[in-house]
Amino acid sequence: MAEWKCVQCGKCCFMYGTMIPATDQDMERWEKEGRNDILDRTKVIRDPATGRIIAAELWFDPYTGKSYAYCPWIKRKKERAGLKQRDKSGNPSGDKVYCQIHDTKPQYCRDYICRRHLK
Ligand code: SF4
Repeated sequence: MAEWKCVQCGKCCFMYGTMIPATDQDMERWEKEGRNDILDRTKVIRDPATGRIIAAELWFDPYTGKSYAYCPWIKRKKERAGLKQRDKSGNPSGDKVYCQIHDTKPQYCRDYICRRHLK
């Protein structure tokens, strides 16, 4: 199987970061880790009859309930160094980007393969 290396361009995160679901395992892990900051940005859909979670969508502003324009966990290198604020459009500027929740990011993000950087 071909290997690929993430070059941290951030395009996948900017383009698809608000179109992914959370898995049951993601939700359980975030609960165990006490990551209310993440859970607060997850829209949970429950079966009205049983109360069971049937879906969990990402990412929603906890104050307005609206979907973010792009994933709120994206951080650009210059931002990390405190040099520049993110622009309102969210378009990649060419800076390297980082995931602020890398260690516990959603399974969909972990499984993503960028075909552009296959070797
Ligand atoms: S959670 Fe992290 S890896 Fe997933 S889209 Fe957001 S910034 Fe990218």
